[in-house]
Amino acid sequence: MIKSSESLVRPLSITEALREAARDLATVSMTARLDAELLMAHSLGIERDALLLGSWGEKEAPLSFFEAIKRRKQNEPVAYILGYRDFWTLRLTVTPDVLIPRPDSETLIETAIAYFREQAFLPENILDLGTGSGALLLAALDEWKDAKGLGVDASTEAIKIARLNADKCGALPRVEFKISHWGRGIQQKFDLLLCNPPYIARDAMMPADVLHYEPHLALFSGDEGLDDYREIIPEIPSLLTERGIACLEIGFDQAENVSMIAKETGLRSRIFYDLEQRPRCVLLS
Ligand code: GLN
Repeated sequence: MIKSSESLVRPLSITEALREAARDLATVSMTARLDAELLMAHSLGIERDALLLGSWGEKEAPLSFFEAIKRRKQNEPVAYILGYRDFWTLRLTVTPDVLIPRPDSETLIETAIAYFREQAFLPENILDLGTGSGALLLAALDEWKDAKGLGVDASTEAIKIARLNADKCGALPRVEFKISHWGRGIQQKFDLLLCNPPYIARDAMMPADVLHYEPHLALFSGDEGLDDYREIIPEIPSLLTERGIACLEIGFDQAENVSMIAKETGLRSRIFYDLEQRPRCVLLS
């Protein structure tokens, strides 16, 4: 009895705590070890690289680490516990008011970069519809340092986060934000329109960390996940300059439906794939 309570209070080394936490999180996370490392690094106030490369192993694990693991065990996403997520070249503040930027969405930035390189001109102004944390817009502005941007979102809270991120990224002088429903009321035309709309079908099976923590406004879009494309795509021709293009994120099984909606609007569509070879971006021109 005494022995087991002793072992319970015995401080764990960082190596031990990481091992136990990774085992513990395996029931809720596909990336348990990575989650544990990120949360440990955060608790220590260092980067994960420093944790892995440094000689931290024998030191005592901080209490805040165990609190973070408890939150993760209740399905809270790592990014909300850390308060940030790295996306493209940027570290972005995220809160439950915004969708956590996914690596999949970097496909849109890659697609746009490849397109403009091929066309040999640089986009001068960029529109991001449903900007959320500002991820797509700020990544693009980081790529094209002379471009100006407009970020639009229906959520006042999201716009606050996007503005904060623009400031952190040093892009504030080049960016404006507007609370609006998609392109409504926007008169200006853009060389590049980026958009990661909600595209999940209403009753799709979703992982608990997404479903219970991330904003549903940014995820779900009617019975088939297509309602917002039906609103956004018809607005696109009036938002683009003559040489402009739109890069829209799509669900892995939506290429055909979204291309069809684009065709009805008189837009040409090309599909681009993410790192796992799933259709992820439709380029409209
Ligand atoms: N790709 C996200 C997910 O599967 C969804 C993002 C979105 O609907 N735009 O969780």
